[in-house]
Amino acid sequence: MFKAILIEKDENGQRVSLSELDESRLPEGDVTVRIACSTLNYKDALAITGKGPVVRRFPMVPGIDFAGVVEQSTDPFFRPGDKVVLNGWGLGEVHWGGLSELARVKGDWLIPLEPAFSFSRAMSIGTAGYTAMLCVMALERHGVRPESGEVLVTGAVGGVGSVAVAVLAKLGYEVAAVTGRVEESEYLARLGAKRILPRSDFNQQGKPLASEQWAGAIDVVGGHVLANVCASMKYRGVVAACGLAGGMAFPATVAPFILRGVTLAGIDSVMCPLDERREAWRRLAEDLDPALLDGMTQHVAIEEVIGVSEQLIAGAMRGRVVVPIA
Ligand code: NDP
Repeated sequence: MFKAILIEKDENGQRVSLSELDESRLPEGDVTVRIACSTLNYKDALAITGKGPVVRRFPMVPGIDFAGVVEQSTDPFFRPGDKVVLNGWGLGEVHWGGLSELARVKGDWLIPLEPAFSFSRAMSIGTAGYTAMLCVMALERHGVRPESGEVLVTGAVGGVGSVAVAVLAKLGYEVAAVTGRVEESEYLARLGAKRILPRSDFNQQGKPLASEQWAGAIDVVGGHVLANVCASMKYRGVVAACGLAGGMAFPATVAPFILRGVTLAGIDSVMCPLDERREAWRRLAEDLDPALLDGMTQHVAIEEVIGVSEQLIAGAMRGRVVVPIA
């Protein structure tokens, strides 16, 4: 038997509970992992609260991330005792995920834990942090450098935003942070933000083009915020868009793209190829200050996960949430 959060659905709606499950119920896979740590990301909170159509198969164990130790493996690349991490690949959506004591997955989805990280630190980063690094790498790939000018991060107090601010500042960028919680300015300044801007400057319908301010931007919000960010990019600026915390819509015009040569780079962490994942984790070991990472992390017991999911969706959690399992 093993403990896991279980989401079930029937004609009366969705139910979520911490359940004891028989190992025979684990899905197909060639590697069984004893989970040491998991996390709570925005997507997990959407799945657990039922506020977004994340789960595509029921019953489902949520959790898009885990770190743990291989217990059994028929994959030639993994042996019992190996320390591994998994992010995405449909876990918590179509395949049972990481908010559980045990997981059974495809070996192709696992990456070895970077030696620089403990299980807890790896999950402190989790999908949110690894996505923040994919965004930074996209800005770099499109030519943004610290000397290009100021870089903007939206939803800055959240998980992706906090890691993005910390990494960009460590790399020498001048970071401006957009937040709906200006009372968290001190926290953002500690992570390295030089300027804090209120979300209200960005979340109303704006002009197709505004004054040119940002050389790069990382957006987790979408909606009017993303449209206004695009409108205020410098000539040939680059926006890495990864989130929808403010909505799915993109009420923008083509003006920034055709008149200023702005690039909108879409970021997907779920199906991202393995070599780019490895590179992102390698870079995180180098470019993210572990002390800042610890300072942005809260630990939540698996018994508290269901309640904390509501707070996370309400935008009331700060930074990253780690769920220790074993
Ligand atoms: P968090 O909940 O930790 O952070 C989201 C932040 O967005 C909040 O802290 C808040 O920041 C801001 N926000 C929340 N609600 C609103 C709103 N209604 N309008 C404007 N801003 C809002 O989530 P994560 O950081 O884990 O994820 C952020 C987004 O990125 C999510 O949409 C998630 O689904 C997406 N994501 C996408 C991935 C991909 O592969 N493309 C991977 C990982 C995440 P503040 O208080 O500072 O304003």
